[in-house]
Amino acid sequence: MDYAKNILETIGNTPLVKLNKLTEELPCLVLSKYETFNPGNSVKDRMALKMIEDAEADGRLKPGGTIIEGTSGNTGMGLALAAIVKGYKCIFVISDKQSKEKMDILRAVGAEVVVCPTDVEPTDPRSYYSVSKRLGEETPNSWYVNQYDNPSNAKAHYESTGPEIWKQTDGKITHFVVGVGTGGTISGVGKYLKEQNPNIKVWGIDTYGSVFKKYHETGVFDENEIYPYVTEGIGEDILPENVDFSIIDGFTKVTDKDAAVYTQLLAKEEGMFLGNSAGAAIKGVLQLKEHFTKDDVVVVLFHDHGSRYVGKMFNNDWMREMGYID
Ligand code: PMP
Repeated sequence: MDYAKNILETIGNTPLVKLNKLTEELPCLVLSKYETFNPGNSVKDRMALKMIEDAEADGRLKPGGTIIEGTSGNTGMGLALAAIVKGYKCIFVISDKQSKEKMDILRAVGAEVVVCPTDVEPTDPRSYYSVSKRLGEETPNSWYVNQYDNPSNAKAHYESTGPEIWKQTDGKITHFVVGVGTGGTISGVGKYLKEQNPNIKVWGIDTYGSVFKKYHETGVFDENEIYPYVTEGIGEDILPENVDFSIIDGFTKVTDKDAAVYTQLLAKEEGMFLGNSAGAAIKGVLQLKEHFTKDDVVVVLFHDHGSRYVGKMFNNDWMREMGYID
């Protein structure tokens, strides 16, 4: 018989799927690393399991312990699945701009969810960074994951996502394009790919309201770049330790409107029902058109599933209210 011993064994080995209609104007092959095939429907299952395994191995996470994290949803889902299989409790701190679906899904897999305001400084005691840190200090037998600065995050992608992409493209990949939040995906995959072939270009997708692009180009952390935005999953108002700027060749920023519109287009034109950062990522690939030539093989990574966005990017009333469609 051929079966997985538990749900965690089904993490990874996701397919690589060609884009067709949306990329017609590009000269090259565009392939998507389709991460919704993971059991928690996002790429984050990979790093969640790796962070837990590493914390178990060095004693930061002890039997029966409580896992605490500030998460926009997908990392929480991955942590919750692993916690159920391995016998831990979870408390997740989430900002109020995240979709209701994401919060409901986390509660469905047994986590306690604490909701914090989005539009406060990271150093404000009400911010989700501060609240998750404080809960980590106050809760007995707990472990604060800190996906932003936890090196196991990028390491998961160095050990699994990167090698899978290299193997699936037969080493022919020329460009890797991906949205950047904690930086774990771009840094881990990018490092692995550049070790195989230093000519591979690594591009990050950023959003307006986030610091990454300006910091990469100037080395200046410019607070004027920080303002509220709608796009979910990418962009930051901090510099996470997991973003390795040295392996990133450049960033392109995608507007909230374009990210939302292209999230719908992926579903309608390609049959790819994906999250908001996938819309940003594919629009970013189109913005980078001038960097690609005929023989290039571009891999874009799609982080999560469309079901978490049915109340927003897939709801035309919401899209009209936001002024994204007529
Ligand atoms: N897209 C989505 C939907 C995400 O949840 C995340 C993680 N915040 C990202 C993109 C960015 O990935 P990373 O944190 O590895 O940079």
